[in-house]
Amino acid sequence: MIHVTKSYLPDIDTYIEKIKLIWENHWLTNNGPLLTQLEAKLKRYVGTEHMLYTNNGTIVLQMALKALGITKEVITTPFSYVATTNSILWEGCTPVFADINEYDFNIDADLIESKITGNTQAILVTHVFGNPCDVEKIEAIAKKHSLKVIYDAAHAFGVEYKGKSLLTYGDMSTCSFHATKVFHTIEGGCITANDNDLFRKLYLYRQFGHEGDDYYDIGINAKASEFHAAMGLCVMDALGDIIRHRKKVSISYDGQLNFNKIRKPISPFEITYNYAYYPVVFESEEILLNVKAGLEANGIMARRYFYPSLNTLPFLEKKDVCVNSELISKKILCLPLSSYLQDSEVDTICRIINTIIE
Ligand SMILES: *Cc1c(COP(=O)(O)O)cnc(C)c1O
Repeated sequence: MIHVTKSYLPDIDTYIEKIKLIWENHWLTNNGPLLTQLEAKLKRYVGTEHMLYTNNGTIVLQMALKALGITKEVITTPFSYVATTNSILWEGCTPVFADINEYDFNIDADLIESKITGNTQAILVTHVFGNPCDVEKIEAIAKKHSLKVIYDAAHAFGVEYKGKSLLTYGDMSTCSFHATKVFHTIEGGCITANDNDLFRKLYLYRQFGHEGDDYYDIGINAKASEFHAAMGLCVMDALGDIIRHRKKVSISYDGQLNFNKIRKPISPFEITYNYAYYPVVFESEEILLNVKAGLEANGIMARRYFYPSLNTLPFLEKKDVCVNSELISKKILCLPLSSYLQDSEVDTICRIINTIIE
């Protein structure tokens, strides 16, 4: 069976070597030495001092909204994982969806201003599949209308835009290190903030809002365990190889798939990419379903990322219309991509797809 992704696992002895420290110190969680080590490495990799490693990539979205004092309308993308919308709703805010563009499936920055009302406080958008949003245009709009910008950079670890990690843009950026992501710590995430006071707030949020016996703020529990940090340290050591292999697989797909019948998102910006996903858009949902079934019949599990379009979620009070997102989400499929996928498997996947779409 080939799944859409297969999490990288280090050699078991390498992991055991790392977790020996936990037995030596008897320090299992609460921002221990392994977490501190991992956080330092992550900061160096991303190029920021203001980063916190956390237990997942959803709590950090909630912390970001809370820290920035967002309680009303948030302009967001309909094309992302459901966690993006859910965190807005969970914080009691109202998501307002602006449609995506047709080239990279990120929010169409030219539509943002038309969605601004007297209640708009923030823009929370995803760099979907790791391709950057139009960060310059978004920053200019935010400045003009005094809005906060939060980037859900869950797909963007390892992506650089204009020589800087994408995680350094916006007022805050969040990331997920879930097992399905390019870099993972089993479960995990991080948040960056470009302001000292905000960073201090987030730091306190992560540990219930207190330091020892001093209670400063209403916090939550976003702490990751030493076991997760140990996995992160092992995966970090392999990250270069992981991305190199994913690049090789992606290039092989590029060379073999019939692009007369399908297309893939193209970033208009020059970036250093992380090869997080390999999404393809078919001519119709019917063809997509045929391809998905054809692959499944051969034990190959592609996934419908991202479907449904988030503006159509059943629990939303008000439904915005987003034509591009609704169309693309019905026709897009992510093909298997991992650091374990073999050349022969890529060949098989391409052969099956090309035969069905002919
Ligand atoms: C994976 C993902 C998340 C959630 O991250 P978790 O670590 O699983 O909580 C949030 N946003 C996007 C876009 C994601 O892909």
